[in-house]
Amino acid sequence: MATIHHLPDRLISQIAAGEVVERPSSVVKELVENSLDAGAGEVRVELEAGGRQRILVADDGGGMDRDDALLAFDRHATSKIASFDDLESVGTLGFRGEALAAIAAVSRVELTTARESGDGTRVRIEGGRIRSAEPAARARGTTIEVASLFWNVPARRKFLKAPATELRRALEVVEGYALARPEVRFSLLSEGRALLETLPAGADPEGARRRIGQIFGTAFAEQLAALPLRVGTEGERISGFVGRPETARGKRLFVFVNRRLLKDRNLLSAFYRAVREEWRSEDFPALFLFLDVPPEEVDVNVHPQKAEVRFRDSRLVDRVGEVLRAGLSLARGEEPAPLRSPRGGPSMPFAWQGLGGWEPRRQEQGDVWEVREAPGPVYGEEAADPFAPVSSPAPADSRMPMGRLATAALAPLERPMVPLSGRSGEVRPFRLLGQYKGTLILVEGPDGLYLVDQHVAHERILYERLRRELASAKPASQRLLSPVLLDLAPAERLRLAGLADELEPVGFGLAELSGGTLALTAIPAVLSAEEGEKLVLSLAASGVADSSEPGALARELLEALAASLACKAAVKMHHPLRPAEMEALLTELFAAEQPYACPHGRPIVLTMTDADLERRFGRR
Ligand code: ADP
Ligand code: MG
Repeated sequence: MATIHHLPDRLISQIAAGEVVERPSSVVKELVENSLDAGAGEVRVELEAGGRQRILVADDGGGMDRDDALLAFDRHATSKIASFDDLESVGTLGFRGEALAAIAAVSRVELTTARESGDGTRVRIEGGRIRSAEPAARARGTTIEVASLFWNVPARRKFLKAPATELRRALEVVEGYALARPEVRFSLLSEGRALLETLPAGADPEGARRRIGQIFGTAFAEQLAALPLRVGTEGERISGFVGRPETARGKRLFVFVNRRLLKDRNLLSAFYRAVREEWRSEDFPALFLFLDVPPEEVDVNVHPQKAEVRFRDSRLVDRVGEVLRAGLSLARGEEPAPLRSPRGGPSMPFAWQGLGGWEPRRQEQGDVWEVREAPGPVYGEEAADPFAPVSSPAPADSRMPMGRLATAALAPLERPMVPLSGRSGEVRPFRLLGQYKGTLILVEGPDGLYLVDQHVAHERILYERLRRELASAKPASQRLLSPVLLDLAPAERLRLAGLADELEPVGFGLAELSGGTLALTAIPAVLSAEEGEKLVLSLAASGVADSSEPGALARELLEALAASLACKAAVKMHHPLRPAEMEALLTELFAAEQPYACPHGRPIVLTMTDADLERRFGRR
């Protein structure tokens, strides 16, 4: 029944093309890579209908002579490698010689190129067939125009997304290369309108920061912390920038290996691990990581679109992790020590120090709870004797003998019972005992001792407030007196603009100002202006918005956002609260639908029942 036969060459090319050219942005990527490989100082990209109709990439690189211009479209024709040995040490972005052939197989291409100004060649190709080749005038460099992508592969055409989505993806590619090559001038025009324009910013680290500023806004670039530069023997170099905790958000994660933009899972997970270890947080800040290694140390030939690489030295990722941790610790700045010391070191010396370094300072107006530098855990010799005095910056008069229960308790023990009403309306007597290390609220209840994690409790409260608001038929919206201008990269701006219709019913107003800047004009009334801004910014930078299934998606998205926003906005650990604040928090918490676990499932309240306590004290 089966008769085997060879496929025609054209079909083979079309099948192969599918691996390289998936959508307009993959064409843009290959063409921009070629321009950079040709030594361009300027790359201009023009798109129509998000690239579905027309993609043009022009550069001022080395150009090609007539023979090369014709050869360039053959499969496996390249000027970049000649032998297997070369493959071991490719220093260029391209090397497979497949891109132009693949692109030409599925579109109409016009190439105009010149090695010397004025003396150029124009080649027209349609569906892989050369139609004409003639002399043409052009300044040194190359222009490639790709029209009607997939005109001869209807199945592929159907899988393309709306022009705005394709445009955004193409923009992301150009932004990525613009970040990789600060010294090159990039521009992107869509339907004749400039969406991205960058001046050459210089190849030095400050150039990289300037370039980040050109794309994401200077305010964002300036707050980034530089990673401590690590220059190894053998030409290994690790550098870059990370964001600070206050600006942690979304998905501005960029990893470059030898100035090639990658989505390398190993390096990214090293980053996630570093953030979890160093910040104990799931809020991943922006990352711009530049890794430069000798070409023979990295194998780029493991992925058809070259998005992943393999390192010969597997410990390289560990070294990157070290640099990231050091950078993250710089970016965070000073912070009180967590409850217990990280990484399994000795825990807090067992000595009472009052309530963890927060001390009341008496003033005329009453109690003012002031943050003092916590003495922090003491390790090593000094800590060997747990009852030895711990050097503490406490003023002499308030110093208490170590090793005994503190006499001056932080929160007044004599406070009256707080009636906290449960959901069923019953009134339960609770008494606030105080705050433990600025982190846990201690409450005496009718049946035992309650430890409440203040951050998680507040998070739950905010989450429920937000969710209620978002779920109600028409959430109250609040106009902003002065619109908030949003600092967004061009691709982020497009993504957010595309979500405007879905955001409107939940209370967000977005307006496009002249010059393309997006402004936030209204926010859901439950949010402060700052929270509203944070929320839309993280929407703009997150990939969730891509899987477009309208309506249901928006709701789900907002639920997830309510959770993460609640977490960001919630009062942090190591933050002293006044008794009245603690009471307000507890009252709202116990009225919550789910007072015992945060939206991420972490426990909020630990209880030690009287029975537990009696058992543990051997009274039972
Ligand atoms: P590769 O980049 O893997 O070599 P391509 O199919 O992308 O394969 O390109 C084939 C060849 O065409 C390249 O090796 C290069 O010599 C030439 N070429 C492509 N684009 C340009 C350009 N913008 N400027 C100069 N030469 C180019
Ligand atoms: Mg190429």
